[in-house]
Amino acid sequence: MNSFNPESYKKKIYKIISKYKLVQENDKIFIGLSGGKDSGCACFVLSEYIREKKLKCELVAFYIKLGDFIPERVIETIKKQTEVAQIPLKIYDIKDFGISYKKIGTLNRPICSSCGTIKRYLMNKIAREEGATKLCTGHHGDDFIVFFMKNILGKNIEWISKFTPLLEGKGKQLTRIRPLFFGNGEDNKNFCDFINFPYIQEDVCPHFFLKQKIDKRREKWYEVIREISKWQPNFREYFLEGIIEIAKILSLNQKEPLECKICGEPTNKEICSFCRLLKFHKD
Ligand code: SF4
Ligand code: ZN
Repeated sequence: MNSFNPESYKKKIYKIISKYKLVQENDKIFIGLSGGKDSGCACFVLSEYIREKKLKCELVAFYIKLGDFIPERVIETIKKQTEVAQIPLKIYDIKDFGISYKKIGTLNRPICSSCGTIKRYLMNKIAREEGATKLCTGHHGDDFIVFFMKNILGKNIEWISKFTPLLEGKGKQLTRIRPLFFGNGEDNKNFCDFINFPYIQEDVCPHFFLKQKIDKRREKWYEVIREISKWQPNFREYFLEGIIEIAKILSLNQKEPLECKICGEPTNKEICSFCRLLKFHKD
C-alpha cells in the first residue's frame, strides 16, 4: 500500500483507453456498477479521462437490482460513487424482466453460469435500448486470466476471442470496453482507499447477500496469479498480451450473431441462453 502511486495507476489506465481507442467523440457509454471497487474504479477513471481530454461523449452508470434482498447500503454506495464521478445513474429492477433471482441458486446449474447469462443479457439489452454505443465493465486483468484458464479447462476455446480491452459489437451486440484490462483487484482497492472513493467492502456477489453457496475458487485463482507475479516479472502483462493475440486469431472465424427466435436478442444458437434459462426457471 505504501508504494502505491495513484497517479501512475491512473496513467496506466489512460494509456489503455488511448491505445485501444476505448472512447471516441460522440460515444454514449453505459457502465455497469455493482457497488464494488472494480466497477467503481472503472467508472471514476473513465469519467476523469473524458473530462480531462474534453471529449464530447456521454457516460451513464447503471445498476440492475437483482431483488429485494440487495441491502439498501449497496444502492446508497452506488449513488455516492456516481456523485463523486459526476455522472448520471439509472437503476433497473430484475423483476421487470420476469425473473426471480432467488430461484437461480436452486436450479440445477452452476450459479455463476446462470448469473453471468442473466447479467450479460440484461446489460446489453438495457444499454442498447437506451441508445448506448458502448458498454463498459470493471473486469480486470486477473479476471481475464482466470476466464482464460477456465475456458481452456472447459475447452470453450471460441469464448477466448472475447477477451480483449475492446470487443467490437456485431449486430445487436454492443461494443464492450474494459479500461481495467491490464489492472488487478489489489490496485483497484488501493486506489479507492487512497482517494477515499466509496465502495462496498464485502463481497458484492448477490449470493453473498442471499447466503447461498457460491464457487469460491475464483479467490484461489487470484492467489495463484499473485504468487506467480512474485517470482515472474511482468507475468500479468505478458500473459494478458498473449491472450489478446490469441483472441485476435480466434476472432477471424467469428460469425455475425443470430437473433433469438423468442426475444430477438443476439445469440449463436436458435434460442438465446437467457430464454433457455428462463424456460428452465419457469418449469
Ligand atoms: Fe454472479 Fe456471484 Fe458468480 Fe459473480 S461470483 S458470477 S456475481 S454468482
Ligand atoms: Zn432469447
